[in-house]
Amino acid sequence: MSRFISDKFKDLTPYVPGEQPKDLLYIKLNTNESPFPPSPYTLRLMRQAAGNLSLYPDPEYTSLTFVAAEKFGIDEDEILFTNGSDEALNFAFAAFCDQNTPAIFPDITYGFYEVFAKINRVPYEVIPLKADFSIDINDYINRKGTVFIANPNAPTGIYLSLDKIEKLVAANAKNIVVIDEAYIDFGGESAVSLIKKYDNLLITQTFSKSRSLAGARLGMVIGSAELIKDLKLIKYSTNPYNVSMTTASAGVGALLDTEYFEKNCEEIIATRENLKEQLKTLGFDFTDSKANFLFAKSSAFGGEELYLKLKEKGVLVRYFGKERIKDYVRITVGSKEETAALVAAISEIMGEKK
Ligand SMILES: *Cc1c(COP(=O)(O)O)cnc(C)c1O
Repeated sequence: MSRFISDKFKDLTPYVPGEQPKDLLYIKLNTNESPFPPSPYTLRLMRQAAGNLSLYPDPEYTSLTFVAAEKFGIDEDEILFTNGSDEALNFAFAAFCDQNTPAIFPDITYGFYEVFAKINRVPYEVIPLKADFSIDINDYINRKGTVFIANPNAPTGIYLSLDKIEKLVAANAKNIVVIDEAYIDFGGESAVSLIKKYDNLLITQTFSKSRSLAGARLGMVIGSAELIKDLKLIKYSTNPYNVSMTTASAGVGALLDTEYFEKNCEEIIATRENLKEQLKTLGFDFTDSKANFLFAKSSAFGGEELYLKLKEKGVLVRYFGKERIKDYVRITVGSKEETAALVAAISEIMGEKK
């Protein structure tokens, strides 16, 4: 840190992304990316868009907005596209939290929430998950602040049913509730259907996980026209062209190629359930994940030990090192082949320990 950095950032600890090793030798099961490439149709639209890169993009992303509004059954003024859903979440912390309106989120959840609270200099309240890592929505009722819930939660993968989400939103009429649906396509039911009924609900989704576009950086936030207008105030005050032209076109492709998307999600879900069975046989304990990852604990190894031993074998998983979850690793559900390699590596490691 230089001696010139502003005092306001002196205590800031940034979010630590999962490793992205450059040697490409690893089986990467540490950042919840899709094992499938973008669809051929998506790539074609992207290439076409590249011819216009000398121009600024349409800051309203009209085509993408039109396609998404159709897809999600909402109006065009009820959605905003962002540079990854991280940007949407940051906008929400900026727009809807302040000294009198703290951010409220669980102790074990997406690590970025705490960082967003800090960079926006807003207070936050952390509410512990239950002993089994579940969220009790009653813990989020009768508080004053903006509630952030990832559903399914990360890194636990535990999913709250739509009726619980509705209860939470209905009981928080004076607060905004932000539901981060980064993993909703892997077996959950989205709360988008509730936005016409509740003007205090915001939903973020990403193209990074289920839609194979982590590298393109595309996210979206859905809510009442009033809330979206507030978020646009932040967007137009920071970066009007927050999504590149090629990424916006990729988004159109990813939304229209329904068949490709559904097939990939189904395969991930099947692979996930199969991996649960195999890990059970190997003496693992895990939460009932409805995401594209498992949050698992071995009876033979601590979390860090397992992470390091798997890395030696060329398999990257995510270890968080936070006290409450130090026995766990988060394992992305990759392709069938990657998953088989993971299981083989775990079996080897167990053999070596004996
Ligand atoms: C991956 C992830 C995001 C955001 O991802 P982007 O790539 O920025 O869209 C948001 N929330 C959770 C819980 C995530 O895991």
